[in-house]
Amino acid sequence: MTPGSSDVVSKTGKRMSEQNHRAEMLAAAATEAARCQRCPLFRNATQVVFGEGPLDAAIMMVGEQPGDQEDRTGRPFVGPAGRVLDEALAQAGLERAQIYITNVVKHFKYEQRGKRRLHKKPNQSEIEQCRWWLDRELALVSPKLVVALGVTAAEALSGRRLVLSRSRGQPMRFLGDRPGLVTQHPSAILRVPDDAARRRAFAEFAQDVQAARKLTEAGNS
Ligand code: SF4
Repeated sequence: MTPGSSDVVSKTGKRMSEQNHRAEMLAAAATEAARCQRCPLFRNATQVVFGEGPLDAAIMMVGEQPGDQEDRTGRPFVGPAGRVLDEALAQAGLERAQIYITNVVKHFKYEQRGKRRLHKKPNQSEIEQCRWWLDRELALVSPKLVVALGVTAAEALSGRRLVLSRSRGQPMRFLGDRPGLVTQHPSAILRVPDDAARRRAFAEFAQDVQAARKLTEAGNS
């Protein structure tokens, strides 16, 4: 490689492109996060679930925390909510491989009920402690648009209380003046008991994903 103006020197003294350097930093962050003990959630979870996706992703999607299947596999959005997300992405003409996807909190918080592990909402302190990792992902991926999936992510990213029904689908600025969009969490759609209402909730969600795509394409996010 011919050293160019965008080359940087890594911690190990190696000269590399700025892109490769960021990729190395992101991989190092994921490795470090696997040993994280900043809050108590590492104790009961199987493993950390760090974000994944391309470094040059235009869209970063941020959920609340990993679920049962994510905790077992170590990958974000691989369970039922992930399948809802994939369907909405497909309707918007996007693929998962184009999106960087992560969570506000990187370890699964749950309550054991017999053999089942029931999702438990992370508290403010856990969210704040885990922000350390989300900030690194945001800085290194630097997406054009951040999409908050659900109110926990929306409040963590915006730094204020939000009413999801009023904020969803509206472009807004998140902390650090980042272009953002809020929508519901795909798992909330799965919890809608009535078929017709669930179809409507999914249609709204797919519309928001489509809006995210348009915002990044128009470059006006
Ligand atoms: S949830 Fe986040 S802050 Fe807490 S231990 Fe896991 S990685 Fe660290």
